[in-house]
Amino acid sequence: MAELKADVLVLGAGTVGVGAALHLQKRGRNVVLLDKHDRAGEETSFGNAGLIEAASVFPYMFPRDFGQILQYALNRTPQARYHLADLPTFLPWLVRYFLASSPERAHRSAMAELPLIKRSLIEHEALVSEAGVPELLRRIGWIKLFRNEATLKTAIDELQRAKQYGIEGDILDSKAIALKEPNLNGEFTGAVYFPQPGFIPDPGGLAKAYAALFERKGGRFVIGDARTLEQTASGWRVNGAAGTVVAREAVVALGPWSDLVFRPLGYNIPLGVKRGYHLHLASAGNAVLHHPILDSDNGYLLAPMNRGIRLTTGVEFARRDAPATPVQVAQALPRARNLFPLGDAIDAKPWMGARPCLPDMVPVIGKAPRHPGLWFDFGHQHHGLTLGPVSGRLLAEMMTGETPFTDPKPYALERFD
Ligand SMILES: Cc1cc2nc3c(=O)[nH]c(=O)nc-3n(C[C@H](O)[C@H](O)[C@H](O)COP(=O)(O)OP(=O)(O)OC[C@H]3O[C@@H](n4cnc5c(N)ncnc54)[C@H](O)[C@@H]3O)c2cc1C
Repeated sequence: MAELKADVLVLGAGTVGVGAALHLQKRGRNVVLLDKHDRAGEETSFGNAGLIEAASVFPYMFPRDFGQILQYALNRTPQARYHLADLPTFLPWLVRYFLASSPERAHRSAMAELPLIKRSLIEHEALVSEAGVPELLRRIGWIKLFRNEATLKTAIDELQRAKQYGIEGDILDSKAIALKEPNLNGEFTGAVYFPQPGFIPDPGGLAKAYAALFERKGGRFVIGDARTLEQTASGWRVNGAAGTVVAREAVVALGPWSDLVFRPLGYNIPLGVKRGYHLHLASAGNAVLHHPILDSDNGYLLAPMNRGIRLTTGVEFARRDAPATPVQVAQALPRARNLFPLGDAIDAKPWMGARPCLPDMVPVIGKAPRHPGLWFDFGHQHHGLTLGPVSGRLLAEMMTGETPFTDPKPYALERFD
């Protein structure tokens, strides 16, 4: 069988892997992008809510309020649910997540991610334009809707804190909500509108458009199993469906499956998952949804995708590979139908994905400390669509010896030592 030679082998063709491949290619590297699917963006990067979260300064940390924790423990909130039977598997990770969520450490995580968040939209704008798909990035912002005075107040306080980092947001009353979204029904205490974030009406399509750009510029996409990765005398080797691929350097960008490669190499990285679901529905009649809307107190989001209205759920803690239990979709559906005129479901069944998460909600971007030529780029949690291209830039700058646009230290694996 043929042997394909490259400078860099990028494992995983989600938004993160494709972002890395493009930025390495821009810096003159001959790159092979490998995935188990025959196309990019078929997994987590396919199913998200489509937000380029340029206004999201504070990561999603574990709640510290006792009442809220109790609701979580009783499996009573739509925002987060867990599989009781799997608890022993993910409890150690949850404890680390809880510890990493103290106010000081949560602030450290927010400041670590901020330089990436701030550059996220610029990077997408450049790629969308180069890929010739400007229609896939809509500058419409998104709306966080509240039904409860207390949660609205918390959100307004958070907005005030975020403003010191350049985040813009408008507080909307019922009248202002109706002006922005005339088809919403219900009693709302208010909303926050974030004008800066972008919206991707087809996240899987975006990864494919970026991968097509990579191929047009001479990059090669191959099907293969990243688990066959082996170190050689001169670099790395993996089995592709059409032959072996060898490269001096390799990048692990396998999202929630990154452990399949780092664990056999002896790395004990605390990568966990927060699963999530989506379901597309038709709009009823002529109803139009103009923005993504988070029905915050009910824990689901509606987004106007090209395929239909995509309902996405909050978090489910379970083993990554445990069978799907789309309870949160079933719970959200009647509430969503009350909020917006929805017709029939377009999908035969809900889609499930898994947000790849480190306990501090900061990705790992940088060198594998014990293996020369091996690099990590995973753990982008709730923000992988947002951060794929900008993480790719940072990684490529490190790999090619350029001055990185931001200090890469907060993303180094050594922070878990
Ligand atoms: C419900 C939900 C809503 C979300 N909403 C948002 C949002 O609005 N905005 C945002 O920024 N983020 C959002 N996210 C998070 C975001 O989707 C993820 O962080 C991001 O997709 C992770 O990208 P990735 O490239 O790291 O992983 P993936 O997209 O999962 O890519 C990993 C790739 O590795 C490949 N792979 C796996 N195993 C192997 C193997 N053995 N061999 C070869 N290839 C393999 C897979 O096929 C896949 O293509 C959401 C996530 C969920 C679940």
